[in-house]
Amino acid sequence: MIDLSKYTKELSKLFSSSENILIICHINPDGDAVGAQLALYHYFKAKGKNVSLLAPNHLQEFLKWLDGADQINVFIKDRKKSRILIDKADLIVMLDFNHPGRLGEAEDSVTASKAKKVVIDHHLDPENFADLIISDPGKCSTSELVHELICEINGEEFMNRSYAEALYVGIITDTGNFEHGAYSSRTFRIVADLLDSGIVKEKIINLIYNNFSSDRIRLQGFALNQRMVVIPEFKTAYIYLSKDDMKAYNHVKGDTEGFVNMPLSIKGINFSALFIEKDNFIKLSFRSKGQFPSNEFASLYFSGGGHLNASGGEYTDTLDNTIAYFLQVLKENVWRFENQI
Ligand code: 5GP
Ligand code: MN
Repeated sequence: MIDLSKYTKELSKLFSSSENILIICHINPDGDAVGAQLALYHYFKAKGKNVSLLAPNHLQEFLKWLDGADQINVFIKDRKKSRILIDKADLIVMLDFNHPGRLGEAEDSVTASKAKKVVIDHHLDPENFADLIISDPGKCSTSELVHELICEINGEEFMNRSYAEALYVGIITDTGNFEHGAYSSRTFRIVADLLDSGIVKEKIINLIYNNFSSDRIRLQGFALNQRMVVIPEFKTAYIYLSKDDMKAYNHVKGDTEGFVNMPLSIKGINFSALFIEKDNFIKLSFRSKGQFPSNEFASLYFSGGGHLNASGGEYTDTLDNTIAYFLQVLKENVWRFENQI
């Protein structure tokens, strides 16, 4: 964990000297990106700041109930308004990503903006693309990091219902409801305060996890039954889905979220991969247990990266060829699997 007090003086100065603050999450934002974004939004609102919100390309259905989500502008849906927001901002806060490519189509406008830029993130090895980069891979979520920074700047813990709901969503989605990731005893102390603020955790769990379409559940069944391959000698399992597979189940964006985690619940499986066929490439997601560096695997072979146990990448070839390549590099990495339990 990093010493946050090194950053809070400068961050506090940037916050107080800025009139128009724009908060941006990453492309295809997950619960943590949007949770951190809305928590910071509610903090600024309570402090009387002029604050706007931007997402590069999309907002997933299961996050739209969060208070303030309707205020998130989507760059590719209204480029003109989004560019105006970027241009008029004097401070841009970017959340939950470590390189500017994660801004999607908004990258050029954000890079060209004269605003001061801050990154708050918990991914490893951030690129240098802002005036202030606060990166702590020791935090389970960017939401937790945002909360810690706000506590320092505010002099005491900041809390209200909307803020607490956003933080709770960020923390549970990035830890798989406290199953994985860098959560700590401090995370639970924060969560205790969130619960004390009056949030209804059953309501949130239902809105986040028990909110699927029947098509999505059937696609999950199909993926596990027909498209999962288990390779015991590598302690590995993978799932692949073609465009046709997804069409057959009326796939909508976000439906395959979480699929990559499922093979890890098989006894003896420490590494899981998900292959999703896109228009011109294959998107890969990786998950691992223990010390298997899924991010190293993603960056060495699939132009990607991420966390030790959760990463992703892509490969520009057919689904069949990508799987063949994956199997080949697995063999080359056999030594990584030899000492695993
Ligand atoms: P997911 O499998 O949920 O899409 O992604 C898990 C993690 O992997 C994300 O938090 C992100 O950091 C990382 N990740 C996913 N795809 C990519 C990618 O294409 N490039 C990089 N650098 N990281 C990725
Ligand atoms: Mn995150």
